[in-house]
Amino acid sequence: MVYDSNNIFAKILRGEASCIAVYEDNETLAFMDLMPQAPGHVLIVPKEAAVNLLDLSEAGAQACIRTTQRIAIAVKKALGVEGLHVAQLNGVAAGQTVPHCHFHVIPHATGTVLRMHAAILAPQDELKAMAERIKACLV
Ligand code: AMP
Repeated sequence: MVYDSNNIFAKILRGEASCIAVYEDNETLAFMDLMPQAPGHVLIVPKEAAVNLLDLSEAGAQACIRTTQRIAIAVKKALGVEGLHVAQLNGVAAGQTVPHCHFHVIPHATGTVLRMHAAILAPQDELKAMAERIKACLV
């Protein structure tokens, strides 16, 4: 697939757009989803230019899943929730809205219904406070 380097996550990775970062290493960046489906929703993106999982190198996929697991553990600890969704959408037909590969970590408490995908902007101060809580639980 042709990679569009003007997508918003590419701009975040180049420092041309801001994000509320939670974690970064040489291969990946994790930041708060601006329109969380539940409080504590984090996105993990590879630094490699890949539209989706099918385009990602094996090393990129390994780095993503490593960071996704690390973030999931921290989110669960920070929020104290019973469950977590880990999601990764490939292609518009599957609901992918940003054409740069990414993984979602979404806390899920028993009995709650997730908000609609990419629908409601959360207040920046809430996202920043949540990022600090998650960062404090990273090991
Ligand atoms: P997907 O539909 O799987 O491509 O998911 C894209 C996700 O990115 C959605 O959950 C959006 O809420 C989120 N999103 C879009 N723009 C931004 C942004 N600038 N910063 C953080 N999250 C974003």
